[in-house]
Amino acid sequence: MTLPSKIVMVDLKGQYKKIEAAINAEIKEVLDSAWFIKGPKVNAFETDLANYLGVKHVISCANGTDALQIALMALDLAPGDEIIVPAFTYVATAEVIALLRLTPIMIDVATDSFNSTADLIEAAITPKTKAIVPVHLFGQSADMENIMAIAKKHNLFVIEDNAQAIGSAYTFTDGSVQKAGTIGDIGCTSFFPSKNLGCYGDGGAIFTNNDALAQKISIIANHGQHKKYHHSLIGCNSRLDAIQAAVLKVKLPYLEEYITARQTVAAYYDAAFADIPEITIPKRVANSTHVFHQYTMKIAGGKREDLQNHLAGLDIPSMIYYPIPLYKQIAFAPYYQGKAPLPVTEALCKEVMSLPMHTEMEEITLGYITEAVQQFFK
Ligand SMILES: *Cc1c(COP(=O)(O)O)cnc(C)c1O
Repeated sequence: MTLPSKIVMVDLKGQYKKIEAAINAEIKEVLDSAWFIKGPKVNAFETDLANYLGVKHVISCANGTDALQIALMALDLAPGDEIIVPAFTYVATAEVIALLRLTPIMIDVATDSFNSTADLIEAAITPKTKAIVPVHLFGQSADMENIMAIAKKHNLFVIEDNAQAIGSAYTFTDGSVQKAGTIGDIGCTSFFPSKNLGCYGDGGAIFTNNDALAQKISIIANHGQHKKYHHSLIGCNSRLDAIQAAVLKVKLPYLEEYITARQTVAAYYDAAFADIPEITIPKRVANSTHVFHQYTMKIAGGKREDLQNHLAGLDIPSMIYYPIPLYKQIAFAPYYQGKAPLPVTEALCKEVMSLPMHTEMEEITLGYITEAVQQFFK
């Protein structure tokens, strides 16, 4: 079988080719203006994103990790304060907590949704707990209604790590709908190139509906400066550059289309794997849409590595997000001493596997990938 092109986990080049003229024109405008940091392009993108998300404030910054760090810096926390995070996430979520001398409390996740639940969070709350960082892993929102209720009950801040779920919509029991990342006190996202809304370098943003927090966040992200050369807070240098904002401004109107393309790929995979008992396809929870940053399935019976090798032999890439629980990382050992391993996180690290997922997938490629998987389990 001859495929149109090499199979990739994410096809950034193919996506660029379709919007090349608009991207190039926007970038050229930035070059001609010579306004490279912040400025009108960045402001315009922040406004567009705030409108899309239905949130009052969007403050852009240098990357998603900084977004999380700045969010925590805005909350007046003290060293030793406890912040609850899932152990099954990308390192950045817990890294910034430790960096600020706060204490990451790593908790387990649900085996079907891969997200932490309100019950798991509540069980980890102590008198030292100050904030919760739910992660909307792989593109589906955590159970924000119940998480917000727990936060309210215990007077805790909620910072949503929305790096993987931009555009995901969460429905509350009263029928109201809010975008992931706009429900907690602060939401954070990443525009890393391979994210669902990616730029062509590093970028990130912070969302909030709270005016006072928004003001503090924008001051912190710009050297703690409330007025040029007047510094009221210890901040950092974390700004989105205008070239990245130009790229994002062109791409944002395509985000819904991109999400639909990802959902179509996911549906194709689902149908192809429905009769394979060793495969658990990704669960769709009732109250959140899934924007499929990753198509992550579980492979039972210890066959994951053999399946990966079989696919690699056919030039089909696959990835493990994530192979090691955060508390087993050398850097995080001090935060987990003496505690029992988290059973679901441990099991997921051995069973999860992600297949190619992007906006440019051709049906012939999907056919090739799914047949290869089916053939392995025959
Ligand atoms: C990508 C990612 C981040 C960090 O974003 P960067 O822009 O790479 O710093 C944080 N959390 C999660 C869950 C991510 O996937």
